Amino acid sequence: MSQEIEKVKSFIIGSGPAGYTAAIYASRANLSPIMYQGMQPGGQLTTTTEVENFPGYPEGTEGPAMMEDLQKQAERMGADVRWGMVTKADLTERPFKIETDDGKFFEADSVIIATGASAKYLGMESEEAFKGAGVSGCATCDGFFYKEKPVAVVGGGDTAAEDALYLSNIASKVYMIVRRDELRASKVMAQRVIDNPNIEVLWNHVTKEIVGTQSGFIKALNGAILENVKTGEEKKIDIEGFFVAIGHKPNTGLFTDQIKLDDQGYIITAADSTATNIEGVFAAGDVQDHTFRQAITAAGSGCMAAIESERWLGEQ
Ligand code: NDP
Repeated sequence: MSQEIEKVKSFIIGSGPAGYTAAIYASRANLSPIMYQGMQPGGQLTTTTEVENFPGYPEGTEGPAMMEDLQKQAERMGADVRWGMVTKADLTERPFKIETDDGKFFEADSVIIATGASAKYLGMESEEAFKGAGVSGCATCDGFFYKEKPVAVVGGGDTAAEDALYLSNIASKVYMIVRRDELRASKVMAQRVIDNPNIEVLWNHVTKEIVGTQSGFIKALNGAILENVKTGEEKKIDIEGFFVAIGHKPNTGLFTDQIKLDDQGYIITAADSTATNIEGVFAAGDVQDHTFRQAITAAGSGCMAAIESERWLGEQ
């Protein structure tokens, strides 16, 4: 039996602000795009609460609501938005061959990669064991569960600072575990952390182990063993939540060995462009941007990717 193959002019992988904006523009350019949303429809913004810096919302909005609006807008313009994952992408020859986890096969004239980035973890076994049972990569998603309980945030960047400040309004106490003697976060955020009486910064500390109890399937985190990297001294802090905020890694696993990535795994795009090293394949949003990582910059690059796809297809 021969496989049924859907042919598409523009295939969009990923559904954050970059993917949806690309879908809006590609639809309006009559490219009839098909989008596969990926494991987390709406992307990282669905794990945030308030978004105050996206232009056009004078009172701010909620991340998940904004992503629903973007999906509706893309669909209203004619984009075919599907819930599911791309499992295979062969970009070695045109048309590009794509397979999805609902058993579908596609031939795409152009592809826009907007797969975003995911939170990094420290990589300890005990951290893995308590994921979802005290260990979290998203303070705004899970902070609510730690009302009046002590928690820790690992990291010294803007995300860690933002998470610590957010949690300081919920938790009884926030430890911020910083591996150096300074924060990487912007000056204004760093000062807010330092001035906050509910946050104690543990400078020069790294986490050795997460500790807790397990009874049947029920796990409860109750502390972390830290080491002072200057003195070698170890100590335990009593906490019930452990929030990891040490940066993100781009979701490029599907394309390794096919597309040019930088040493951190981000897709390399041409200057002032979303063009990758493969003609007809464009990349937008956090999967190619480790500098700005904002919803608005992702949306902007999604727009660029659709316009560049349209122009490129027109030249073929
Ligand atoms: P960053 O890469 O900026 O910071 C990561 C932090 O985690 C650093 O302090 C780093 O330490 C620490 N770290 C990394 N690996 C480990 C480890 N294994 N153990 C302990 N600590 C570790 O990531 P962010 O997610 O904070 O920010 C990414 C980008 O997004 C930045 O450009 C940031 O400015 C931006 N951003 C902006 C926001 C805003 O404007 N509102 C909000 C959030 C992010 P070290 O410093 O020693 O390397």
